Amino acid sequence: MSLKSGPCPSCSKNSNIPPGYIEDLIRDKINLGADLVEEKVYEKRLQICSSCDSCVNDMICMKCGCFVHIRALDKIARCPHPDGDKWMSVL
Ligand code: SF4
Repeated sequence: MSLKSGPCPSCSKNSNIPPGYIEDLIRDKINLGADLVEEKVYEKRLQICSSCDSCVNDMICMKCGCFVHIRALDKIARCPHPDGDKWMSVL
């Protein structure tokens, strides 16, 4: 799942996601010392999001409004899908 820039797929009116914005958020999270998942868990979570019908443009979860690249980093984060946590298999 690649990182994108451009109009926000969620609100799309006047919002723009500048190049590097999501990468900066990821760097901030790492630098803040957040408890992060291992890389293989992160990649698997993103694969699951990529095939989820609630994921817009491989970027935003429409169940919670988050950037999936950011949420998937967090060890204590759970997938908010109402049918059940789709990340459960990779905890
Ligand atoms: S519902 Fe879960 S699997 Fe789907 S996009 Fe959101 S976090 Fe990812």
